[in-house]
Amino acid sequence: MQSVLLIHPPLVKPSEPPAGLARLAGALKRHQIACTVVDANLEGLLYLLNRRAFGAGSDAGDIDDTWTKRACRHLDAHLRLLRSRKGYISTDRYKRAVLDINRVLGKSVPADAVRLSLSDYEDRRRSPVRSPDLIAAAEMPADNPFFGYFKARFPLLPEKEQPSWIGFSLNYLSQALCCFAMIGFMREIFPAAKIVLGGGLVTSWMQRPDWRNPFEGLVDELIAGPGEAPLLAFLGVACNGTPAAPDYSVFPLPDYLSPGFILSYSASSGCYWRRCAFCPEKAEANAYRPVSDDHVINELAQWNVFHDPGKTTSPVLIHLLDNAIRPSLLRQMILNPPGIPWYGFARISKDLKDPEFCLALKRAGCAMLKLGIESGSQRVLDELEKGIDLKMAADALKTLHQAGIATYVYLLFGTPPEQEPDASQTLNFVIRHQEWIDFLNVAIFNLPAFGPDTEKLNTGDFYEGDLSLYRTFSHPSGWDRPKVRQFLDRVLKRHPAVAAILRRDPPYFTSNHAPFFWLYRYGT
Ligand code: SF4
Repeated sequence: MQSVLLIHPPLVKPSEPPAGLARLAGALKRHQIACTVVDANLEGLLYLLNRRAFGAGSDAGDIDDTWTKRACRHLDAHLRLLRSRKGYISTDRYKRAVLDINRVLGKSVPADAVRLSLSDYEDRRRSPVRSPDLIAAAEMPADNPFFGYFKARFPLLPEKEQPSWIGFSLNYLSQALCCFAMIGFMREIFPAAKIVLGGGLVTSWMQRPDWRNPFEGLVDELIAGPGEAPLLAFLGVACNGTPAAPDYSVFPLPDYLSPGFILSYSASSGCYWRRCAFCPEKAEANAYRPVSDDHVINELAQWNVFHDPGKTTSPVLIHLLDNAIRPSLLRQMILNPPGIPWYGFARISKDLKDPEFCLALKRAGCAMLKLGIESGSQRVLDELEKGIDLKMAADALKTLHQAGIATYVYLLFGTPPEQEPDASQTLNFVIRHQEWIDFLNVAIFNLPAFGPDTEKLNTGDFYEGDLSLYRTFSHPSGWDRPKVRQFLDRVLKRHPAVAAILRRDPPYFTSNHAPFFWLYRYGT
């Protein structure tokens, strides 16, 4: 009999179970294939935190400073706080807990080699965008800071028999080096098992026009896009019927750093708009693959049936992972509320400036919408083909906020059409509409390595590496990265209106925890 082991490697924010593995686990269960799922990200982070606070200290063996000693002493209480509703009432208490936990984590590894935080992994010795470095990580798994965890955990995993397939889900660069260290270790302890690697990052790598597989001999199969059908095909099983419901019961739900189970759910992959210049969705020509509205509504309704506020298996929040929730689904959710608060990305549209529509969304459980407004310059938005009208965006922010839906606005600086006066217009947009902007994400533009828009620019290496997804470029108007960074640090972020909004942003967890402040503090 075949058995499958699925691993979610470090490091990503440990706030919710990974949706991709929940889908794979559901599909394998539907086809009666034995499957074990390990959230090695959550387990590994808790291992390092507990070892640092209560055990052997850091590998660096350094002497604790006052902050670290205090943070270690309060670790348990801080973890409990983040797992309870009370943790999201006072921003100051929340921030102290998160910063202390992050301090313990940072001090759990030798600082000269690796920098860990609750949302990122940086290895000073190896780069996640160089395939020789990833292969070296696999050859020397003991170099990885999570080695103590997986050396103890992985050999004990097979309950009855050795896994025939071991799958890794690799979605972010911050996971890549740990993922390959774990692959190398699995190769040693389960030499007969086949290794399969999939996830969002692998999909992006495989869509590069110059892609050639550098991992032959280490990884047996690579999967681009949704993994259910290819994985079943490797197992020699025909995929039957409609997609299986994701299975979240395979995860240790009470252990995540959130006040309850966050159901992360994709109602589509790709983007229905797919027109914004320089967006990876357009550059990679990713197909838009929606799960039908009816199917989404039925799946979410299943969770509502079991919704029992006392149970750890009942979701407290739905995180819709779509690049943009399509308007038809928003309307369907109004007609068929899932019975659980939810949030996700949406595009600015006429609907969102309609008070009746926003109040209906609120009644349907919408706690927060993430909105990519990007720029306060209409010329920049038009040249980027964002399809956003600034007047409409301003009206939508006000209407949503007044309806009791938190607005999380995303701004992007340093895009090719932007010049410094445009960036100042963006600042003015925030100042004018500060009352209606609850949270703010400020980012500097990264140029995708490939795509028709990239070809028009004078480009160079962003990170030196054969797997880099970005390139540097000479800005057509000289509005280069250092100038943009200076504007953000010295002007934008120092403006009292912007600073006040940024202070509300939950450190490290950002939008993953923001809805809880809205839901629990204001009781809306
Ligand atoms: S709406 Fe977002 S995901 Fe879609 S094309 Fe534009 S930037 Fe990309």
